[in-house]
Amino acid sequence: MADAKKSEIRKIAASKTMRKLMADHFYELDRAVKEGHPKVAWCTSVGPAELLRAMGFLVYFPENHGAMLGATRMATETIPAANAIGYSPDICSYLTSDIGAFLQKRTPLRDAYKGIEAIPEPDVLVFNTNQCREVQDWLAWYGRRWSKPVLGVECYKGVGEVTDVHVAGIAGQFEAMVPALEEVSGQKLDIDRLRETVRLSRECSDLWKEVLETAATRPSPITFFDSTIHMAPAVVMRGTQTAIDYYRELLAELKARIDDKVAAVEGERLRLYWEGMPIWGRLRDLAMLFLELRTCLVASTYANSWVFTALDGDDPFRSMARAYTELFIVRSDPHKEKYLEEMVKTFSVDGIVFHDSKTCPANTNCRYGMAQRLQERLGVPSITIAGDLNDLRCYSDEQAKTQIEAFVEQLA
Ligand code: SF4
Repeated sequence: MADAKKSEIRKIAASKTMRKLMADHFYELDRAVKEGHPKVAWCTSVGPAELLRAMGFLVYFPENHGAMLGATRMATETIPAANAIGYSPDICSYLTSDIGAFLQKRTPLRDAYKGIEAIPEPDVLVFNTNQCREVQDWLAWYGRRWSKPVLGVECYKGVGEVTDVHVAGIAGQFEAMVPALEEVSGQKLDIDRLRETVRLSRECSDLWKEVLETAATRPSPITFFDSTIHMAPAVVMRGTQTAIDYYRELLAELKARIDDKVAAVEGERLRLYWEGMPIWGRLRDLAMLFLELRTCLVASTYANSWVFTALDGDDPFRSMARAYTELFIVRSDPHKEKYLEEMVKTFSVDGIVFHDSKTCPANTNCRYGMAQRLQERLGVPSITIAGDLNDLRCYSDEQAKTQIEAFVEQLA
């Protein structure tokens, strides 16, 4: 075991910049709603943010707010309000905690950013079902509430190889949205602006990928817990120069750590992969537990989900369609297993932690024998932690701790 002094979470200096960027992001949205300009679009986290940004919208991501509700543990108090109006405790707890918070007139933004009283009211809401159908239901609720248009893309599911047929189908849906978006924004789509936004988004994605790949170094300069925090600009600011500048700063810091052999987990002896959603309300507890076990969670499917290597400014609609269909969550089990195999090799992983997230079956991959198949094929052992992204009633601290400690002991 590490001693008490060594068991401190190593702080990333770039966090200060990130906090400022996130504050700017929310204040800009708040100001836009108060002044009525620019228009605000809500977008699902792997929706066509580039298109919205290029059309002059400020973009708000309700899942980011869902994660804040989870991380502040406010979700536990707000979920029942959504259950009371018919949204089951078994469905996405981002959705239930977010709608519940709205009904209770609460938001963690109020505590974090002085002067912000509420989430930004949208002019239009845009979803992509590449993640799950819940996002459609979620945005539809707000659309009815505020009588605002809800537009969306119906994505393929269980995709093996992404073909031109898939790409044409999704690109066509993106293009079909444009007239409705032009009506709301009051401006015509400028294709050059879209090309430039997609180019910026690709650059952001490439830098984020590089940040995540620093964890292939032994010892790793970054943990999964760091990446859940530092992915925020890749989610909410992709398509902007601001996000690019941020990841350049973060990457430089991590490269300096590598040069100086500075480990995110002092005395790193084991390297694990996290598969599934984060448990937002327990990020710090879990980070401390793994730190004390001198075990680094080096990589995750979750943080990798904002790596879009297909984006290409020269072919904006089709490349967005490909990027958002190549997403892990959209793919077939054989494809996912191949992907995980690559991750295990790239990051020299000793074991996998599967999170069986009660209310997010879409991002839970251990219910149909995948863990066992991977163990058989790669000889990589795994555990499955029962829990949830936001609903802590589905998670037992004691049980998870016992399981993790036993797993680490067995691997060691
Ligand atoms: S992927 Fe899971 S957590 Fe995300 S919106 Fe869908 S159900 Fe909720």
